[in-house]
Amino acid sequence: MDAQGRFPREAVDALGKAGFLGLTLPAEFGGMGQGIRVTCAVLDEIAQRCASTAMVYLMHVCGCACYVAAPQAAGAAMRQAASGRHLSTLAWSEKGSRSHFWAPVSQGVQEDGRVVLNAQKSWVTSAGEADGYVVSTRTPGGSAPTDTMLYLVLKGEKGVSVSGPWSALGLRGNASAPMAFDHCAIPAERALCAPSKGFDTMLGVVLPWFQLGSAAISAGVSEAATAATVAHLAGGRLEHLNSPLASLPNLRARLAQMRIETDRTRAHLASIIDAVEQPGPQTMLMVLESKAAAAEAAVRVTDLGMQACGGAAFSRHLSLERNFRDARAATVMAPTTDVIHDFIGRALCGMELF
Ligand SMILES: Cc1cc2nc3c(=O)[nH]c(=O)nc-3n(C[C@H](O)[C@H](O)[C@H](O)COP(=O)(O)OP(=O)(O)OC[C@H]3O[C@@H](n4cnc5c(N)ncnc54)[C@H](O)[C@@H]3O)c2cc1C
Repeated sequence: MDAQGRFPREAVDALGKAGFLGLTLPAEFGGMGQGIRVTCAVLDEIAQRCASTAMVYLMHVCGCACYVAAPQAAGAAMRQAASGRHLSTLAWSEKGSRSHFWAPVSQGVQEDGRVVLNAQKSWVTSAGEADGYVVSTRTPGGSAPTDTMLYLVLKGEKGVSVSGPWSALGLRGNASAPMAFDHCAIPAERALCAPSKGFDTMLGVVLPWFQLGSAAISAGVSEAATAATVAHLAGGRLEHLNSPLASLPNLRARLAQMRIETDRTRAHLASIIDAVEQPGPQTMLMVLESKAAAAEAAVRVTDLGMQACGGAAFSRHLSLERNFRDARAATVMAPTTDVIHDFIGRALCGMELF
């Protein structure tokens, strides 16, 4: 998938067949009713094999969180997802407001019981591949940047198109291409939030799934890089010295740092999952921390792996350079690490976030 920059259709189909597209959906819609802890464990496992598939799956889980919050609009989509026939994603980031996804510049228009969407979305994971798009837009008639709505738009509806290519440094199987919603008219009942409450759903419902899920993917990528480094150091040889590559202490030290960082990421994430399950005053701060900390750790871990495995990693003989590239995506995915740092600093100083 990475070499060809190809969407991991076989992996998504396999997840669907095994019921995993319904992992987080309620039993009444055919789902498994699992929460964030199990979802993070699943994402960590998938990311160890293919981070592109893991991110496609995470965006599906985030879309499903919106469906669960609006069963009257998304009941059919949930039943299809639980039976493996519906992949969801979020179409939030816009050309105009870039990574500030909470403030779309597009604005829906109300017309005869329908809402007409006109939006240029800059990145949509699974673009053209997903069956359901959770599209954000400013509320029809609303004026504040955060007065927003979320709507379910289905694949193949008039006006929906993939408007550019996807070719990136990492997560190359992700199909995170730009999409256009041009005069796309959908029934007003497809709203996935109460009037003007898109912002609340984005931050209150979806953000914890995305933040913790992204951290779990970073943990999985870190684990994969650590495992690849173990295999290379233990298996590689310095034949003229009759010793394994692991006989070099600086390489072992780099590996040890990788193990410590990876274990610390998992421990940090586990403590944040505890906080989400037993919410307290620090929970939102910890949710913010989760993605930034794990993303930075994965960049460090994969960089250490590249150094420890030298030319074999650089020349693409190992999975490490893919891990190295994939790890960098979490830093730029919104909320970006810069923005998270700003939010945490503001929260600590008692300042408003928006
Ligand atoms: C692999 C991948 C998949 C994605 N999938 C989706 C998806 O499914 N749906 C979706 O809606 N979006 C998706 N995105 C988009 C993503 O969430 C961001 O919107 C996008 O990466 C932002 O890129 P940009 O260049 O427009 O950022 P910009 O906003 O231009 O940011 C540029 C730089 O400025 C910094 N910056 C921005 N604002 C601030 C601030 N207030 N304070 C300090 N620094 C700041 C950023 O950290 C960054 O370093 C995806 C992105 C990637 C990489």
